[in-house]
Amino acid sequence: MAIPLLDLKLQYTQLKDDLDAAVNEVMSTAYFIGGPKVKALEAAIAEYCGTEYAVPCGNGTDALFLIMNAMGIGKGDEVITTPFTFFATVEAIVHVGATPVFVDIEPGTYNMDIAKLEAAITDKTKAIMPVHIFGQCVDMDPLLEIAEKYNLKVVEDACQAIGATYKGKMAGSLAHAAAFSFFPSKNLGCAGDGGIITTDDADLAAKCRKMAAHGTSKKYYHDAFGTNSRLDAIQAAVLLVKLPHLDTWNQERRDAAAAYGELLADVKGLELPVARDFGDSVYHLYIVKTEAPEAAEKIMGALKEAGIGTALYYPLALHEQEALATLPSWEKPLLPVAESCNNCTFALPAFPGITAEQIQEIAAVVKGALA
Ligand SMILES: *Cc1c(COP(=O)(O)O)cnc(C)c1O
Repeated sequence: MAIPLLDLKLQYTQLKDDLDAAVNEVMSTAYFIGGPKVKALEAAIAEYCGTEYAVPCGNGTDALFLIMNAMGIGKGDEVITTPFTFFATVEAIVHVGATPVFVDIEPGTYNMDIAKLEAAITDKTKAIMPVHIFGQCVDMDPLLEIAEKYNLKVVEDACQAIGATYKGKMAGSLAHAAAFSFFPSKNLGCAGDGGIITTDDADLAAKCRKMAAHGTSKKYYHDAFGTNSRLDAIQAAVLLVKLPHLDTWNQERRDAAAAYGELLADVKGLELPVARDFGDSVYHLYIVKTEAPEAAEKIMGALKEAGIGTALYYPLALHEQEALATLPSWEKPLLPVAESCNNCTFALPAFPGITAEQIQEIAAVVKGALA
């Protein structure tokens, strides 16, 4: 039987009655934009993440943009981030007018290497944007210490990490503000696009809310040029049904990761993800790495042959993308750890609901390909 990389239909089957009822309720009230579902979701996410405020918006990319915009980050400013993330992180930095500066990653977790962070700070640096990649938090304490020393803002890109913890605190509550995405394939996904901003800063929350609604704080009075970035009521309704199940789903992902950890521990030439002991990862993706692209290609080929879903995350580090070369006065940095991942890091299915038998089957195919 084929095993997809992510089985979203399984989730729908589990919750069909509740999801259908929630969507139908929105349809029958015809309250499509704003309204009680969106308000309830704001409260639920703020409570879940342990922040004062949650401001919904159209998607995770907008969430990042709105936060930086509200912080006054723009032309001439630098924002430090990681080269090993989804492109949206960098797009948001460029679209506020700032310049992305990349710090290399650490092997194993693929997160920003904090030991290399301070060297990247210049007098133009305004913010640091750590990305909790694949659902594991960045080592935030040393990062925040450096940020404080240089008076920098810190924005968490938590799009892959809803439910992850760091020293007992939730991702999304670890810095000045955080961005989440509800893209369907994220750990908490809606039925389309959606996003939310979490923060304890009342002023920042108000600014984000205003800019997401055409720069208006009072209907038809505009004191700034904002944009239109909304989470609609149907998406909020879907998310309210799913949120109570998130912790269970995340635990199932961790269980899958633990099973792979045992089955693949001694496989030569295969690097398994490193789980740091400062918190719980939510394994948005379970990523393994080979030493060379040829080995990854071989394993991925065998998986596809067996009907098992897999994909490269990510095939090309962001500082090597063509778009970056179009930035004014761009100089491509040397980031050897990130570059060593090109075409070598790929995902094995580890979605909620995957069975022990499926994991054994996948592990056997991986081992067979390398034998
Ligand atoms: C998904 C994702 C985003 C963007 O979220 P969208 O809702 O697709 O705009 C940003 N950063 C990371 C790390 C992501 O995984």
